[in-house]
Amino acid sequence: MLGAGPLAERAIPRSGPYHLAVLVSELVDRMRAAAEEDPTWLGSERNLALLEEFAAERAPGTVVRWGQSGQRAFASGGVLSIEPPVELAGYDSIFIHAAMAHHEVLHRVYSDDTGAAAMSGRLTLYTPYLTTLGEQVFNWLEDVRMARMEHAAEPANDDYPVEVHRLSVDQQEALYQSSLGEQPWTTSPTHPIAQVRIALAKRILCGELDDLVAPAVARVMAELEPEISIAIASQETNGARGGALAVVAVLAREWDELRRAHAH
Ligand SMILES: [Zn+2]
Repeated sequence: MLGAGPLAERAIPRSGPYHLAVLVSELVDRMRAAAEEDPTWLGSERNLALLEEFAAERAPGTVVRWGQSGQRAFASGGVLSIEPPVELAGYDSIFIHAAMAHHEVLHRVYSDDTGAAAMSGRLTLYTPYLTTLGEQVFNWLEDVRMARMEHAAEPANDDYPVEVHRLSVDQQEALYQSSLGEQPWTTSPTHPIAQVRIALAKRILCGELDDLVAPAVARVMAELEPEISIAIASQETNGARGGALAVVAVLAREWDELRRAHAH
């Protein structure tokens, strides 16, 4: 019968550029079923093969390998390293594992290197702290920008980036507290510049900042808001790079004022 070939059977119409259903919930369901049947499945070669099948739908040719703890990145040649599922307090390990795999696949689909060398070159003109912060701000902006692109292509996947971003901010808040010995959200931080950094992470990754911050930090964040919004709305990765450079330029200008903000 005309039109009843294999593709017609498995294809579900999508509004985005992908004609095949690439729902993260399907990956989660399959992982849960497999883990229930055999508890040794999680972290196994079969787990890896399923991730590879999932990644290949969006980024053909992707090879998935188990990485070190905390490692989660694409290397050159389409090799995705991802750590096996781990227990994280407050998170569903299978859900977050699938969300992290999805996150890296989104980089393959939406992120590119255009302007990368120019951004790195311009960031080296700043202090080492601001150079590093600029790279981090770029990564946060790009993560949210590509989640926005994914929303347009497949809104059913919306919950997964949200959870990855929530985990990232949780971990940064914990690190802030353990390394600086105080809560990040206070109107009198000992290190206002560190508070600007965590405020940027929260605003960009969680979409809003309704926590207590120092008045000087609130003023700088308000000044940065248009740059952040424009970068996230950009159609290209280079828009996130431009946003990171704009953020760093403002912080360099406001640096002394921010440092003085805790001196009384
Ligand atoms: Zn990322």
